[in-house]
Amino acid sequence: MAANLFSEIEYLKGVGKTRGEKYRKLDIKSPYELIYHIPRTYIDFRAHIPIAQAQPDEYCFLKLTITKKLQPQAIRKGLVICKAVATDGTDNIIINIFNNVYAFHALSEGAGYYMYGKVTGGFTRKEINSPVYIKDDEKVLIQPVYRLTQGLTAVMVRTNMQQALNLMKSQPFETLSEDIMEKYELMPLMWSLENIHFPESDEAAGLARERLAFDELLKLQLGMSLMKTRTRNSTAYQMDGKISISEFLDGLPFKMTDGQMKALVEIISDLCRNVPMNRLLQGDVGSGKTAVAAAACYFAYKNGLQSALMAPTEILAMQHYKTLSEFLEPFGLKICLLTGSATAKNKKIIREKILSGEADVIVGTHAIIQKDVEYKNLALVITDEQHRFGVNQRAALAEKGDSPHKLVMSATPIPRTLALIIYGDLDISAITQLPKGRKPIKTYAVTGKMRHRAFNFVRDRLDEGRQAYVVCPMIEDSESDLFAVKSYAENAQKQDLKGYSTALLHGKMKANEKEKVMKKFRDGEIQVLICTTVVEVGVDVPNAAVMVIENAERFGLSQLHQLRGRIGRGEFESTCILITDNTTDECIKRMKIMSSTADGFKISEEDLKLRGPGDFFGSAQHGLPPLKIADIACNTQLMKKAQMCASEILRDDPELKKPENHALHMDTIRLFNKEITG
Ligand code: ADP
Ligand code: MG
Repeated sequence: MAANLFSEIEYLKGVGKTRGEKYRKLDIKSPYELIYHIPRTYIDFRAHIPIAQAQPDEYCFLKLTITKKLQPQAIRKGLVICKAVATDGTDNIIINIFNNVYAFHALSEGAGYYMYGKVTGGFTRKEINSPVYIKDDEKVLIQPVYRLTQGLTAVMVRTNMQQALNLMKSQPFETLSEDIMEKYELMPLMWSLENIHFPESDEAAGLARERLAFDELLKLQLGMSLMKTRTRNSTAYQMDGKISISEFLDGLPFKMTDGQMKALVEIISDLCRNVPMNRLLQGDVGSGKTAVAAAACYFAYKNGLQSALMAPTEILAMQHYKTLSEFLEPFGLKICLLTGSATAKNKKIIREKILSGEADVIVGTHAIIQKDVEYKNLALVITDEQHRFGVNQRAALAEKGDSPHKLVMSATPIPRTLALIIYGDLDISAITQLPKGRKPIKTYAVTGKMRHRAFNFVRDRLDEGRQAYVVCPMIEDSESDLFAVKSYAENAQKQDLKGYSTALLHGKMKANEKEKVMKKFRDGEIQVLICTTVVEVGVDVPNAAVMVIENAERFGLSQLHQLRGRIGRGEFESTCILITDNTTDECIKRMKIMSSTADGFKISEEDLKLRGPGDFFGSAQHGLPPLKIADIACNTQLMKKAQMCASEILRDDPELKKPENHALHMDTIRLFNKEITG
């Protein structure tokens, strides 16, 4: 069979078993995947200067001719130096190549080269060490620099890349129509792939990168949308809209806000349809999402059906278990908690209750979606803090039961542009207001010099009966100067918090230890919790009204906002003190934003502005398939363009079934690696 883009990588000339394995180490299994091995950067040999102008200790580009190669010298065991003399007419220079006899043999006396490397030596005798070079008859003067692995050289990758590109040229495909390319000012795919690797000019490299980043963002959105369409099969659990839950709403200790009610109505009307709900409930920290979730569980219960609530951490699962029990047990519902750290015996008992239907609402970590957990009639699955679960896990959840309804809750207010991408497969309900009577949190940013004064303030609040969090970035002391909870707690007990009851909470503690500490903190036995960001999500202790964040520069805006959301949850005036000695512009800006607004959406917009979407795609937290180009090249403008384009294509062909969208459809599936095909 003739080789094609999707053949094994070994089909390329010169790639045998050994080199094939090296490529696989870089996740490159086919010529297609090699083509999408995008250069990290480029070396531009056009920028060469005369040797006479090369300054010692600077990296320089030179164009020179080798006049004499000297004998390689073994200096000592394991070190061979090869030297050659070269000239460009303005001066001579000595080329030093260390421990690479092969590279040295590749150079010929009398031949011309472009070289790039660090120049050393004085004015009388210049040297250049381990230069990268190309022959001076090479047409492509902008050379790609790739991520490599031991035994795989730049020359090998460049040669194979040319072959792969030629292969593609012989079987060309284009994923976008002429109309779309024209409308969004994009270069053709083949041209872009050639120019991302071997650009004609800087401008060409830029245009190529833009087209390819656009492609990735477009495929991402199309893929999310395909997943959404796929889940639109029928559900076995169409609920009855005539069933009332007014006794539950009347029994709540508060009146739901308009925002909560609107979201609840949207959810219930979804539950009464014969297709599974697939909805995101978005609302800032403290907006009361849990109460809405509880009401939805109650509605399912009145329909005789089970619900499950999944949280990303054990602490949060326990918290939800407690809250849901308070809301629902008075109405006779049986709630059970299932986490990974339960004993085998307990797990067995709980699993039986889930299967028999004795449990109405099941709360837990991802333990509740394991294969061995069978449900009687799981109709509603709620996940909290969705951004921490990957697209895979979303799919795993959907497989439990007979297409249950799904609700995902997120407290991370994600700017609309990003939300459409991450949650493209979901419908969105947003709670935009906080319950009445919340006192705004006062936030101050101070330097370490003010620490003792800050703790005066903390002690005053503790003496009034309030509780406090102190957040540090590390668990144990390390070489960095960052505060670590363990030593911090020791010092605090001797000094600033002497006589007050404190406790540690961090991610390395066992689940039952964590729970013990959380319980004591909730019960008021512990006054100050010295913790890492494990408290970031979900923890709800209304009496905690003070938070001190050490090394505040270490946290992004959205993370600071999440952390701060742990206070201001009750009737008391709350204060957040950010301590940092960092004086960079960026840090100062972040502290200013934090002290001036409490609006989560505004903060996340600012975060996006400061960091750019590339930073977001670079982090692994979002659970999206890994992006290769968009994570470096992406900007908000491009994202908007890709969004517009995706909705145009889908309007016309929601499942990408039309022949003209075939190539795009296949390419989208490749990005998601089968997740959307099953
Ligand atoms: P979220 O999960 O959205 O961050 P929670 O559901 O934990 O918020 O709610 C935060 C706090 O507000 C809880 O103590 C909850 O009981 C309370 N709460 C929820 N809804 C209301 C409301 N409508 N009025 C007053 N308090 C409310
Ligand atoms: Mg919550």
